[in-house]
Amino acid sequence: MLGAPGAGKGTQAKLIADMYNIPHISTGDIFRTSIENETLLGVKAKEYMNQGLLVPDELVLELIADRLSQADAKEGFVFDGFPRTIPQAESLTKTLNKINSGIDLAIDVSVPDENIVKRMAGRRACTKCGATYHIVYNPPKVEGICDIDGSELILRPDDEPETVLKRLSVYHEQTKPLIEYYKNSNLLVTVDGTLAIEDIFNTIVKVLGA
Ligand code: AMP
Repeated sequence: MLGAPGAGKGTQAKLIADMYNIPHISTGDIFRTSIENETLLGVKAKEYMNQGLLVPDELVLELIADRLSQADAKEGFVFDGFPRTIPQAESLTKTLNKINSGIDLAIDVSVPDENIVKRMAGRRACTKCGATYHIVYNPPKVEGICDIDGSELILRPDDEPETVLKRLSVYHEQTKPLIEYYKNSNLLVTVDGTLAIEDIFNTIVKVLGA
């Protein structure tokens, strides 16, 4: 899943993963869990994340290699927030080629910048499972509480307005070129991320031919 921070790619990635019963692999979630567990990876990632910067490619690629080697990834997976740079995409293509696998589709959830800034201010994330909500567009059943595990919802440090602006500029500089990369490989599909969650998902389902 491609898209700016806050475009809703995580929400769609989870829905797709549930439908196909395959893992949803979010590098952001993996980093956040690592930070919470105070692992070496977490300590290294935190300094970049809290500034709105990308974690260096080597760290991300190491994590992905490890994640793809796990048994549940054998039948497929949905990547959310990975790849985020051209070197990551190139490395992924090579890694998958080696195991006679590949990317079926790169889905770009497209949302204009001005909508992103507004959306992020209303985003809330579960402190335990990482599920995300929006106070207006996708509210939890009980305000401030995660539907899935009952934990507290917070505004993530990297969703603070100043950091969001930095993340958006990093997105334009380093991640947006992936749209061209996957277009050139004939794998790109763009969906309108300003629509309602279920409408976006219905479009994706059609594209996937499910
Ligand atoms: P996300 O939850 O996908 O928005 O990711 C949150 C933060 O984690 C990003 O702003 C980056 O600092 C870091 N991150 C997640 N995925 C990657 C990646 N593929 N490459 C570099 N940094 C990443």
